[in-house]
Amino acid sequence: MKKAFVLVMAMVMAVMIAAGCGGSGGQKKAEKAPEFLRVGTELASEPFVFQKAGSKEFIGFDMDLIRAIGHQLNMKVEIQNMKFDALIPALSAGNIDVAITGMTITPDRQKAIDMSDPYYVTGLVVVVNKDNNTVKSVKDLDNKGIAVQIGTTSADRAAKVPGAKVKKFNTNAEVFLELKNKGVEAVIIDKPLAEYYLAQGGGKDTAKIVGDLMDAESYGISLKKGSPLTTKINRALLDLKNNGAYDKIYTKWFGEAKK
Ligand code: GLN
Repeated sequence: MKKAFVLVMAMVMAVMIAAGCGGSGGQKKAEKAPEFLRVGTELASEPFVFQKAGSKEFIGFDMDLIRAIGHQLNMKVEIQNMKFDALIPALSAGNIDVAITGMTITPDRQKAIDMSDPYYVTGLVVVVNKDNNTVKSVKDLDNKGIAVQIGTTSADRAAKVPGAKVKKFNTNAEVFLELKNKGVEAVIIDKPLAEYYLAQGGGKDTAKIVGDLMDAESYGISLKKGSPLTTKINRALLDLKNNGAYDKIYTKWFGEAKK
């Protein structure tokens, strides 16, 4: 009985080593077979990730980028939509392999998860209603109502405004709706999301950006802490920048090639 148990354990260990669980020596093998890259994202942040009315296809800059990375890694990309603040817990639980949705690289997030090298540089702006002539920058927001998306860097920034009454929403669409309905004085949000909303997201006639770009932020792809995929994703990102694919995707969504 005891002998049989030892034999089974030895076999289990041999299989684990062969499968690459035993350490970095097994990683080469895993690269050969096409695997699934389980991607978590949050919709409604045009132009990074969104769906056209009546379609379930995930489109946008981030979606093209992660598909190109998947192709580069010989992995089949599988995308699912989640709430923004559910992405990091899903990574940590191992339910998804990567998250991408205009997520800013922050020291706090890097304590909980891995983040890739930057793939897009931007920052936060203040958006107000067009008829608002008193708010000219974030400095004018003390003690005022500010709408932000839950779990974002915008929420962190709004929390630093003295006396501000911060209203948090699950989606950016709700954030902008609150501004339109005059439930708040201002919105704090990523510049490209604000610009897209003003250009074609319904805010053209009612809203405007005021003040300068606040602290610069870089977007990164998020992974579980210690994921062996992090270095592979960084390498793929670099390859796409070097072979022109990144610029192609950039131009498709933002109009001009990244310098
Ligand atoms: N960049 C913001 C953050 O990381 C969120 C952007 C978005 O709404 N997807 O917190």
